[in-house]
Amino acid sequence: MIDALPPLRYVIRTHDLRAKKSFGQNFLLDLNLTSRIARAAGDLTGADILEVGPGPGGLTRGLLAEGARKVLAVEKDPRCLPALAEIAAAYPGRLQVIEGDALAIDPLAHLRAPIKVVANLPYNVGTELLIRWMTPQSWPPFWESLTLMFQREVAERIVAQPGAKAYGRLALMVQWRAEARIVLTLPPEAFTPPPKVSSAVVHITRLARPRFPAEARTLERVVAAGFNQRRKMLRASLRGLHPQIEALLEAADIRPTARAEEVGLEAWCTLARELDRAR
Ligand code: SAM
Repeated sequence: MIDALPPLRYVIRTHDLRAKKSFGQNFLLDLNLTSRIARAAGDLTGADILEVGPGPGGLTRGLLAEGARKVLAVEKDPRCLPALAEIAAAYPGRLQVIEGDALAIDPLAHLRAPIKVVANLPYNVGTELLIRWMTPQSWPPFWESLTLMFQREVAERIVAQPGAKAYGRLALMVQWRAEARIVLTLPPEAFTPPPKVSSAVVHITRLARPRFPAEARTLERVVAAGFNQRRKMLRASLRGLHPQIEALLEAADIRPTARAEEVGLEAWCTLARELDRAR
């Protein structure tokens, strides 16, 4: 056992935490597994952890047992609070729980650097938060790393390389300023109740600065335009961005007849700079 608290199946029974679809609840009840996910976030000692969607607290317990200095857990379902209070009592002064919607709450006032984010969230909330965490006003962001559970297909989109079917906006947005790896894949049966698809944990580490210079907004615009019509040649899909788009593509060393999925990160950044220069 990782701690002296009761098994999660018992916690769920005593607090009547039947998983609700409306909260996107698929719980991890194996504490060995939640400890593995916690370890995938790297050394936790000396770090504050933002955990979004703790539910009955399996991952929370893993994070605390692995030595996190403090865990701030944001949970939307009030039914989970008594179970989380028991964990807080077992780890005095190290677990703070906020009841609320992670999309509406700013948890930063309660956290001290270095900060790591760890979460097993409903997939739609996870993707929305990932996009926010990857696109702050300024870089570096408040977090050092993000360790997040996704639908496997989304995880593959995050780490995809040029030429792959999964390569697109998400890969470029993340890989421009961070390192991303899939560290664990999980079958549906790892969860209670099992979801329809497999899942994967992605570990994302921020870089001190972007890999290649570019204006974030221009880069996002040009990549979005390219991948919105990914089967088209770039000279067609990017036509709306500039009247001389072919010349700008050539200046960025991109064939105007290439398609978005063939173009690597460095070339997208060069094209974004060419566009800004030409404006
Ligand atoms: N982390 C737990 C685990 O691994 O067993 C629970 C995982 S379950 C997939 C997702 C959790 O996120 C649920 O406890 C759900 O109530 C919570 N949740 C859903 N939407 C949320 C939101 N917008 N803000 C905070 N928590 C949310």
